[in-house]
Amino acid sequence: MKILVPVKRVIDYNVKPRVKADGTGVDLANVKMSMNPFDEIAVEEAIRLKEKGIATEIVVASIGPAKAQETLRTALAMGADRAILVATDDAVEPLAVAKILKAIAEEEQPALVILGKQAIDDDSNQTGQMLAALLGRPQGTFANAVTVEGDKVIVAREIDGGLETVQLALPAIITTDLRLNQPRYASLPNIMKAKSKPLATKAPADYGVDTAPRLRTVTVAEPPMRQAGIKVADIDDLVGKLKELGVA
Ligand code: AMP
Repeated sequence: MKILVPVKRVIDYNVKPRVKADGTGVDLANVKMSMNPFDEIAVEEAIRLKEKGIATEIVVASIGPAKAQETLRTALAMGADRAILVATDDAVEPLAVAKILKAIAEEEQPALVILGKQAIDDDSNQTGQMLAALLGRPQGTFANAVTVEGDKVIVAREIDGGLETVQLALPAIITTDLRLNQPRYASLPNIMKAKSKPLATKAPADYGVDTAPRLRTVTVAEPPMRQAGIKVADIDDLVGKLKELGVA
């Protein structure tokens, strides 16, 4: 069984994003970039399925600039077998990403595609769902636990207030939630080995996908500064203040 894991290169989650002075977007110059954390969880889950003898090959794919190769090498160092870079300097929106992934899935025929539930740069939370719809395959989103049983996969999904368990017929699409697993760090020998694993470079046009944006960003702004808090003497004072603010 083959597993496809799409991985996105995003601003590292420890970095506080800075908005460009002209409000056209987020400043990416000299900013540390890393694999989207939910995608690390997806790679880890695929590796665990391989270690259990369920998966036989893990293919990772990224749509992005040439530097996304580093993200793919990280996935290869964790334990993926092969990588595909779909190189483009355009900002590719979820629908175009999903169309490219659909074409890759048709070529590779994976039994499972495991994506992150969202990319932490634009927080779209759309690509997995769009891919499932385009391929006409069942989807188990926000996975908290994944169990493959024969030609089915059982996914416990994080929903408001608990877990919902669904059973999907393979081939299927899964998106990962935070508590699915704790991704491993790549060891130094595996980082060295990853340098010689196969990485194919393609272009969106190879898959017949037009990546022209359908959305126009009007402006990007910092969130408003939080107001300082105030201390209250007692409950009466608190209720008085709340009344003043019109919230009680
Ligand atoms: P999003 O819908 O943008 O929040 O992204 C959800 C998931 O889709 C991510 O966690 C990745 O697994 C995948 N994905 C989104 N954009 C890309 C990309 N440019 N390259 C590879 N995978 C992507």
